[in-house]
Amino acid sequence: MKDRKLTSAGHPGGLYLLFVTEMWERFSYYGMRALFMLYMTQALLLDKEFSSEIYGSYTGLVYLTPLIGGYVADRYWGNRRSILWGALMMAAGQFLMFLSACYFQQVALAKWLMFAGLGILILGNGFFKPNISTMVGDLYAPGDKRKDSAFTVFYMGVNVGATIAPLWCGLVGNTGHPEDFKWGFLSACVGMLIGALVFQLCKNKYLVTPEGKAVGMPPEAKPQKSEEQVRSKRLFLVMALATVILAVLFVVGGADWIGAFIYATIITVPLSILADRSLTGQERKQIGIIFILAFFVIFFWAAYEQAGASLTFFADEQTDRHIGNWEMPASYFQSFAAVFIVLLAPIFASLWSFLGRHRLEPSSPRKQAIGLFLLSLGYLLISFGVKDVGPGVKVSMFWLTSLYFLHTMGELCLAPIGLSLVYRLSPARFSSLLMGVWYLSTSAANKLAGLLSSYYPEEGVVKSCLGYQIADLHDFFLLFVFMSACAAVVLFFLSGKLSKMMGEG
Ligand code: GLN
Repeated sequence: MKDRKLTSAGHPGGLYLLFVTEMWERFSYYGMRALFMLYMTQALLLDKEFSSEIYGSYTGLVYLTPLIGGYVADRYWGNRRSILWGALMMAAGQFLMFLSACYFQQVALAKWLMFAGLGILILGNGFFKPNISTMVGDLYAPGDKRKDSAFTVFYMGVNVGATIAPLWCGLVGNTGHPEDFKWGFLSACVGMLIGALVFQLCKNKYLVTPEGKAVGMPPEAKPQKSEEQVRSKRLFLVMALATVILAVLFVVGGADWIGAFIYATIITVPLSILADRSLTGQERKQIGIIFILAFFVIFFWAAYEQAGASLTFFADEQTDRHIGNWEMPASYFQSFAAVFIVLLAPIFASLWSFLGRHRLEPSSPRKQAIGLFLLSLGYLLISFGVKDVGPGVKVSMFWLTSLYFLHTMGELCLAPIGLSLVYRLSPARFSSLLMGVWYLSTSAANKLAGLLSSYYPEEGVVKSCLGYQIADLHDFFLLFVFMSACAAVVLFFLSGKLSKMMGEG
């Protein structure tokens, strides 16, 4: 048995390689995202509504393709190759965005280059995101108690990238001169290439199991043309057909095509996975738990992702952003959550390890219920801050800052723990695919977030959401309080049963 070096924090070196790779990938993703809306509206001069539609579809679809990347990795390529190809595709996508921004004055050409870039980015993210997440778990022996803490450290890498990206790409790309957007996109491309290079150079040395076996290699048994395969092909066709039928039904019901496709996929894919005949009863039960938790997580991200939507309007229109003589740009609030994560992640990682050692650690579903409670609390606090505040009146930054602080703590209870749990509950041969299913909930949530944001109050208009009347900001924020508190309470009561089912309780 090879003796693997542990870092001073007690984690294998491979975790830090994944940390750095993911940090650069998220730098690339969030750097481009920070400029994307501005580029469409200020350089290509597209209207706000059309740009928002493209933005919503892009952020929805990047979390849909992990299903494809996860499937290909589990069956054919393994995680390493999928990550590399995903990274190269994303770098190519960012390069096309750079070219688009070079020719922004030729709008038709620039738009085509942008759409081609977005398509490749969507596909690339699908190959990268689920596979790097799965590899974190592979570094540890089954049953190793450090996994929640490891995923929390990894999640910190996500947010180091997410913190630096908007600042750097904003600095070089959002200068007020549309011809500078290209430098932001080029930075995103270079960032991704650095991540890919570091990963390629160090993967053989660090990405190994506790026994020293290489992780992330292609599956040993190559798929054969067996009866099993014929059956799964048939199942795939039935699933594809069901997805199309459902999508058409959603469109008839009033959803847009991409939304319809996302909603149809989140219904048919889990069902088809559960129908796989190779699963044992216990495996099916564990996968069922992943799906139940993924359902609750949709409510978390749909409320959380208001950050890029309604909460940015609120920051812009109703928050006093003066610090001395300087007025902070509204978009800076979007970095708050990432900064808080970077500051709080080490505390949470140690907290889980400490509680684990003293046998006091809450079960994973309970941690997620706590995450939803904290989210609800953030909205409750701000709903008091805006009570009886008329339109156009600005409130202190304290409210939005406290909301982000509470949301971040919630995120740390829910997101890294979710990744760890999905890894733990997945049969090894489906681990990346199920990670893809997990990200599917983010895809649906991003779409739902856009819908919920449209209830943002307007002067003199009373909006109704499923019978709930929204006349002002107080009502609007309470909507999220109810939504996340209901999800939290139900999950809290289910958590005992769920953790017993997965052998935690
Ligand atoms: N901030 C996380 C990331 O970028 C969000 C992932 C998610 O599941 N919503 O990885």
